[in-house]
Amino acid sequence: ATIPQLLRETVAAHGDAEALVFCESGQRLTYNTFAQEVDRCAAGLLSLGVTQGDRVGIWSPNRLEWVLTQFATARIGALLVNINPAYRLSELEYALNKVGCRVLVTACSFKSSDYVGMIRELAPELGRDGPLASARLPELRHVVVMGDDVPPEMIAFTELTGRATPALLVRLDGIEAGLTPSDPINIQFTSGTTGMPKGATLSHFNIVNNARFVTDRIALTPADRLVIPVPLYHCFGMVMGVLGAVSKGAKMIFPGEGFTPAQTLDAIAAEGATACYGVPTMFVAMLQELDRQHRDLSTLRTGIMAGALCPIEVMKRVNRDMHMREVTICYGMTETSPVSFQSFTDDPTEKRCETVGRIHPHLEVKLVDAEGNTVPVGEKGELWTRGYSVMAGYWGDEAATEASITDGWMHTGDLGVLDAEGFCTIVGRVKDMIIRGGENIYPREIEEFLIRHPEVSDVQVFGIPDDTFGEEVCAWVVLKPGSTLAAESLRDHCKGQIAHFKIPRHVRIVTDLPLTATGKPQKFVMRDRMQEMLR
Ligand code: ATP
Ligand code: MG
Repeated sequence: ATIPQLLRETVAAHGDAEALVFCESGQRLTYNTFAQEVDRCAAGLLSLGVTQGDRVGIWSPNRLEWVLTQFATARIGALLVNINPAYRLSELEYALNKVGCRVLVTACSFKSSDYVGMIRELAPELGRDGPLASARLPELRHVVVMGDDVPPEMIAFTELTGRATPALLVRLDGIEAGLTPSDPINIQFTSGTTGMPKGATLSHFNIVNNARFVTDRIALTPADRLVIPVPLYHCFGMVMGVLGAVSKGAKMIFPGEGFTPAQTLDAIAAEGATACYGVPTMFVAMLQELDRQHRDLSTLRTGIMAGALCPIEVMKRVNRDMHMREVTICYGMTETSPVSFQSFTDDPTEKRCETVGRIHPHLEVKLVDAEGNTVPVGEKGELWTRGYSVMAGYWGDEAATEASITDGWMHTGDLGVLDAEGFCTIVGRVKDMIIRGGENIYPREIEEFLIRHPEVSDVQVFGIPDDTFGEEVCAWVVLKPGSTLAAESLRDHCKGQIAHFKIPRHVRIVTDLPLTATGKPQKFVMRDRMQEMLR
């Protein structure tokens, strides 16, 4: 199906049901109202001259307008380009030009970021009607801004939707008839965990099907109320969250524009949520907040933890302390729409906590060694996946596409192990493996050990270059509130418990980890800072 078809089917079956709740703004929309607003937004985009195949950027935190733009662009066959809300001027310029955005939809500001100010600085020539080409953003024609504080050369979002005329609305239906599921509909930038984000080109078919399979596995129904604290700009929010919920007619609840653990827990309690998504660091923060202040989370049933290695201890606590008895882990990547592995809600708790579950329907998997040969069951190898979910390619980057896809097989860059029943354990990224004095060290093993320390709240292990051993093991540790544990005591704690070569040579106690906007720990940033500090 196409994205507009998906929404239409759900509206037909559950039109009066509540679709979207935004806790921060207080907005609540039924599926009927939502679909009408989508049409008005699509008609508004038509009035700007947006046509099939055009790129429309969205640069905003989690707001209603984000979701409206997502479905409105799909309604007219334009490609939605999801731009990281944490981007600054030069990154925005890079993303918009990389894919040639014609329109940018944005919020006025977010946290300390003045979005409108940055756009004005990039494109001072931008005119309101009959826009001038801007030197630094040559393809951009219009900027649409959410909120009340809209400068004269930009278009207010409410003005855009107000442009919907009956004639434009009729034109929409004609356009939709020409859409095909295999059309590219979305350019999703990856998280930038390992460096510069890459723009994956995805079709309706890719993401609509993946959204269905993801929510099949957690048995989402129209009775479910799903809390989405992950950013919409990322596949976790927009595909697994929004498209997943729409495919089942479930209710979506957005606790805030950005993530805070308190807002998320409050939203769960206030809305009687049955499901919640998050990356591991978000669940760590929620558990800590729960220790600080109790909330009734007894309505929770399931959810998804994904996006980065999920510490077993954290999964167990989420099962127990957050009542998410059927929580599953997903493994995937933006380039594969995203999910390829997931547990079932009725898999044994151990399997749900320790593995990423089993392969999704209609996908193939193999584990390969450095030469591309398949490794036997029980051995570590790089995960390759193949099937309907693999992207067409990186937008405008054939060399990178060719380097990462062979005969339809996506090279994930992640190391995994499969057991005889098909359960997969993720070991870590190929690039994060530490080779110290000839020993292969997997950071995850050390992280799993350290996070069991009663005073440790979060931990990241990585390697830095070393003259003697090739690489040395480093750990960044976040302590639980009130703890005064010293780095040296943590090293002592490792002695006799893990092999001597795995004991982090350098331990640093920190208050925060460097995270991507999706909440993923950026080891490359820690690695750079650590090297600077030791220099
Ligand atoms: P970039 O490609 O820009 O460096 P990224 O790889 O983090 O960033 P995403 O596409 O958001 O961008 O994330 C996919 C990656 O996240 C996977 O390749 C994997 O390394 C990691 N990941 C996702 N889910 C899991 C999981 N359940 N367990 C371990 N790692 C996971
Ligand atoms: Mg990646």
